[in-house]
Parts: sequence; structure tokens; C-alpha cells
Amino acid sequence: MRQPLIAANWKMYKTPAESLAFLRDFLPLVKYHTASQIALFPSMTSLPAVIEAAKGKNIAVGAQTMHWLNEGAYTGETSPTMLTALGCTHVLIGHSERRQYNNETDDTVHLKLQSALAHGLIPIVCVGEQLAERESNRTEEILQRQVSIALAGIDPGHAASLVIAYEPVWAIGTGRTATPQIAEDAHKLIRAQITKSLTPAVAASTRILYGGSVNPGNAAALCSLEDIDGALVGGASLDPVSFAKILEAAATR
Ligand code: PEP
Repeated sequence: MRQPLIAANWKMYKTPAESLAFLRDFLPLVKYHTASQIALFPSMTSLPAVIEAAKGKNIAVGAQTMHWLNEGAYTGETSPTMLTALGCTHVLIGHSERRQYNNETDDTVHLKLQSALAHGLIPIVCVGEQLAERESNRTEEILQRQVSIALAGIDPGHAASLVIAYEPVWAIGTGRTATPQIAEDAHKLIRAQITKSLTPAVAASTRILYGGSVNPGNAAALCSLEDIDGALVGGASLDPVSFAKILEAAATR
């Protein structure tokens, strides 16, 4: 039985003070959820304040990216050891905006996944096709490639915490959501690829989230499907009431 996870990607929004204001309004709305169901991904500069405020509360906190090495001459980067020292438990890997603007590739996603698992961070690996790829019927090929390269050589015994987010690039921040059936079909493909790359047991227990213009109005329909185990939410996670409503909708699964 996979427990739904609803994750908030705040991208480059919210100062530390704004992040704390969000928590003040949000925490009372989600009293009945557990930390394995809610994860917040603030900006690097808000991480310390959010981690401190989340101590003893029912939310997990993660970073939006990391380097795969522990240290080195990589100006502007953050290492996995730095994240765990801060109290981070989760990390996003390979978000499409980072693939597009920060030269993340399938190979660096793989290195980051290996490193996150080795450091005990719960990785959310983002995959998804571009609009032109979907329109030329290449969705299956793209998802298989992204997932198989990410998982190549990963020890199935160390992959228990793995989370994948299916985020069709054409649905991110566009207001255009994949239909539940499109999302469910893609999630099934991803689960089948996890079986091939790792084991059927890991595939059965891996949470696969949907991301792409999720909002309080469409979350229940998406999260009711068999292979959709929650959501990665961008825009609609910036408002505490809207994000709490998404959690509520997903919990009816
Ligand atoms: C995201 O940033 O991962 C995302 C899915 O954004 P949005 O919900 O705004 O489409």
C-alpha cells in the first residue's frame, strides 16, 4: 500500500519571512496529515528557517536540487552533506526547469540519484516529455530513457525510498493539466520501467507523483487513479489554503 505524497515546489519564490508566514497559516490546516504525506521544497535561502519551523511538525522539508559530490570547487552549488547537516530529508532531482536552464542531463540525474540514496536523502526524480515529443508519439521512448538512465546500476536494496515525479513539460506552469488517463498511462509505463531496471517489488512500492498544473479542482481525479501516488505542485502550492485543499483532495484516494 503506497501512501500518497503531496510535495510543494516553491521554485524561486518566497523569502525566509514569507516562507514562515506560509507555515503559520498552513500548519493548522493540515493537522491530520503525517510527515510522510507532505513535503515542502523551499528555495535554498529559506531552507534553514523552514527546517527549524518544521521541527516536531508533520511536514518534511527538502531542497530543489543538489550537487552529487560532497565538496569541491563548484561555485554556487550545494552538496548532499550540506543538506543533511541542515536537516533536509528530501531532494528534487532533474526538475524540467533545471534540465532546461541549468544543463541537467540524464547522466547528472543518475549521479545525483546515486548520491542522494547514499546520503539517506529521499530523492524525487523528475521525468517527463516535451510537447513535441508527445505529439510525435515519443512519450514512451522518452520516459523509458529518462528512467532507465537514472536507475542504471542502482542497488534495488537501496532504492526503498525512491520517488519518481511524472511531469509532462507541456503541463508545468501552463495551466494545461494532463488528463487523468494520460497521467495514469504514463505512470504505468514508468512503473514497468522500474520493474525492468530494478525489481517488481521496488516498482510496486515506489511512489510515482504527477506534476503539471495540479490545483484543488483537479487533484482528486488525478490522485484517485491506481498508479498516481500523489502530486508535485508548483504554482498552487504557494498559497497555504490552496495547497491544503490539494492535500485534502488527495487523501480521499
Ligand atoms: C512544478 O514546478 O514541478 C510544477 C508541477 O509546477 P506547476 O504545478 O505550477 O505546473
